[in-house]
Amino acid sequence: MAKKQFKAESKRLLEMMINSIYTQKEIFLRELISNSSDAIDKIYYRALSDEQIVFNKEDYYIKISVDKTNRLLTIEDTGIGMTKEELENNLGVIAKSGSFAFKNENEAKDGHNIIGQFGVGFYSAFMVADVVTVVSKALDSDEAFKWESKGADGYTVKETEKDTVGTVIQLKIKENTEDETYDEYLDEYRLKAIIKKYSDFIRYPIKMDVTLQ
Ligand code: ADP
Ligand code: MG
Repeated sequence: MAKKQFKAESKRLLEMMINSIYTQKEIFLRELISNSSDAIDKIYYRALSDEQIVFNKEDYYIKISVDKTNRLLTIEDTGIGMTKEELENNLGVIAKSGSFAFKNENEAKDGHNIIGQFGVGFYSAFMVADVVTVVSKALDSDEAFKWESKGADGYTVKETEKDTVGTVIQLKIKENTEDETYDEYLDEYRLKAIIKKYSDFIRYPIKMDVTLQ
């Protein structure tokens, strides 16, 4: 399938965010965890009105895994998942929620670094990753899809296999450069500290799994 282009506005914002605006790169994890939590909330609320869905609390969690050898950080959730259309529409448009624009406007106005207090969303993953892969299976769907992007140059969506409903987001963590190191995002203690700092209020269990070697 041909690579699809992000909408123009998305592309420009994405480049800006990756290249300059964000100094607090660690917040990407807060953003991804909060999306996972929102996705679990959606099943929870659906279960309240749909007796076909049983919400067993122990089935709903967020799992973080690290594969240092391959520089992979994975955030998995058992939330509502995304259909092919949702992958395209929700991940193909940056700043849909408006929080990104709001944040920058305010920072420019008063000069304070209020970045980090507001959501910037899914795209913040590109601050630390050069490839982001999202595999998702939506509730009530038999099919699963894989969305993949290297950032501003677009994304692909392909059919894939996934047994369970939910979403797996895999970040290929950037190589260190002379000015910047990214290894910390593959370090379980550092990740735990980031989770503690920003995601302490999350109502679902956040599990951590580390692949050694
Ligand atoms: P926001 O959370 O403010 O809507 P994001 O950029 O963080 O903006 O996410 C965009 C959208 O992508 C979400 O609103 C949601 O529909 C979808 N999404 C992102 N991550 C997930 C996930 N883990 N599970 C299900 N949907 C997701
Ligand atoms: Mg979000």
